[in-house]
Amino acid sequence: MTNKNDILSLRIPTKENPLRILMSACLAGLTCGYDGTANGEYPSALKLLHYENVKIIKFCPEEFSFGTPREMCDIHGGTGFDVLNGKAKVLTETGKDWTAGMVKASEKMLEIAKNEGVELAVMMDVSAACGSQVIYSGNRFAENKVYQIGAGVSAAQLLNNGFKVISQRDFASLERLYSKINPNHIISENLKDHHETEWYKSYFMGL
Ligand code: SF4
Repeated sequence: MTNKNDILSLRIPTKENPLRILMSACLAGLTCGYDGTANGEYPSALKLLHYENVKIIKFCPEEFSFGTPREMCDIHGGTGFDVLNGKAKVLTETGKDWTAGMVKASEKMLEIAKNEGVELAVMMDVSAACGSQVIYSGNRFAENKVYQIGAGVSAAQLLNNGFKVISQRDFASLERLYSKINPNHIISENLKDHHETEWYKSYFMGL
């Protein structure tokens, strides 16, 4: 997992040499969600589109392999890391096995990250492809849906290859990112990353 201190090691970007950020395409407003929407609006991510010294590279792994609209899918038997190791599967809501397509999409995302010299990925949490902090464990439509700590397949692929990945909910990391992009940005120290929230601590640690 990338943490907020990792973000402090990013360079100060300029207009001539912008910070190269790979973003889940739906977070950048593209209508590539499973139902043809942009999966909601997240000001924390959309704000990144408006800096001259940031280059946003958009990619939707699920659209790459399965098109839009499409079924929803979740990881069964582990996390995205386990899918890449052949120990877990990705199944759609009707039980189709999308494991191979999800791995292929993650390889495409990695190729883009390498070709573009990406310095950070900002990705949609909870997605079976893009989640980086929390994902579902099994079918999200189950009566007792269960969350697990872990990354989706594409986020896991990027992390395995040394890329920094944060989610749209990692507000402490995003604060540090904004401070790199805008020297006048004052970091709000009371904002938290997703794993520091009360919900996360209560759900996963019983605190
Ligand atoms: S796969 Fe990623 S980019 Fe595509 S809709 Fe899902 S969360 Fe967004």
